[in-house]
Amino acid sequence: VKQAKGAGKPQVYEPQQATEARRRFSIETELRRAIEKEELKLFYQPLINLKSGEVAGFEALARWEHEDRGEISPSEFIPVAEESGLILHLGRWAMDKAAHTLADWDRKAGKPLPLYVGVNLSAIQVARDDVAALVSSALKSSGLAGKRITVELTESSIVQDPARATRVFEALKALDATVAMDDFGTGYSSLAYLQRLPIDVLKIDRSFVTGMMVDPDSVAIVRAVLGLAEALGMSTTAEGVETVELATTLAALGCASGQGFHFARPLEAEAAFAYAESRRQ
Ligand code: C2E
Ligand code: MG
Ligand code: MG
Ligand code: MG
Repeated sequence: VKQAKGAGKPQVYEPQQATEARRRFSIETELRRAIEKEELKLFYQPLINLKSGEVAGFEALARWEHEDRGEISPSEFIPVAEESGLILHLGRWAMDKAAHTLADWDRKAGKPLPLYVGVNLSAIQVARDDVAALVSSALKSSGLAGKRITVELTESSIVQDPARATRVFEALKALDATVAMDDFGTGYSSLAYLQRLPIDVLKIDRSFVTGMMVDPDSVAIVRAVLGLAEALGMSTTAEGVETVELATTLAALGCASGQGFHFARPLEAEAAFAYAESRRQ
C-alpha cells in the first residue's frame, strides 16, 4: 500500500503506476541510446535585450525526437537522466554542442558575434562532475571566449553543498564565464547566497512573469527582484514573456532581457542563427 502524495488517504498500487515505472525504465535505456544515435538535439531560444530589441544571446534547450514516440519533453527526460546519472553525459554533450554551435555561427559571420549561449547545468552535475573543467574544455575546443558562455544553475545547486557551490561558481568566474541563477525565486536558497556567490544574472521564473498579467502580487515580486538585482549589480532576464504587454511592462520596470514565445520559441540551430542575423541592427 502506497501513500498518495498530498491525498492523505492510503491508495492501492495501481497498474497505472507499474506502467509509469516501466515507461521510466525504458526512457532510461532509450535515452542512453538516443545520446549515441544523436536523436537528442539542442534547440536555441533567443534572449532579447528589452531596451534595444536586439538578440542578446540564446538559451540551449535539449530536445528529444524519439523515432516512435515523437517528441519527449525535457521535463520528462531530464529528471530520469538525473536519477540515473546519465545527466553527467548529457550535460557534457550539451556544453560542447552549444559552444561549437556558437563558434560555428562566428565562422559563418566572419567575426565573433556579440551573442552568448546559456547552458543549463543540473545540480547533480555541480555535485558530482567538475563543471569548471567541463566549461574550460568546451571553451578550448571551440575557441570561444569565456564570456560567450552563460552557465544556468538553479538554487538547488547551492543548497545541497554551499561550500562546493562557492568553489564551482568562483572557478567559473575565473574562466570569465557568466553565472546565471535560473528559475530564481522558486528554490530554497537564502538571500545570503546572492551576497556571497559571484552571480551575474537572475533569471526570473516564468511563474512570476506569467502571474504579472493577473496578479498584483506577482508584479510586486518581479519589481522586488529587479530592485534586488540592481542593488547587487546583477543583470536580469525574465522567462516566459508571452505577450507584447509583458515585454513592454518588463522593459519599463528595468528588466534587461527577456525570453518567451512572444519573441520566439526554441529554434533549431540554423533557424536560430537566421533569427539573430535578421534582428541585427
Ligand atoms: P529552464 O532552464 O527554465 O528553461 C526555460 C523553459 O521555458 C524551456 O522549457 C522553454 O522552452 C520554456 N519557455 C520559454 N519561453 C516560454 C514561454 O513564453 N512560455 C512557456 N510556457 N514556456 C516557455 P523546456 O525546453 O521544456 O525545458 C524545461 C526545463 O528542462 C528547462 O527549464 C531546464 O531546467 C531543463 N533542461 C532543458 N534542457 C536542458 C539541458 O540541456 N540540461 C539540463 N540540465 N536541463 C535542461
Ligand atoms: Mg534555463
Ligand atoms: Mg529557467
Ligand atoms: Mg524555468
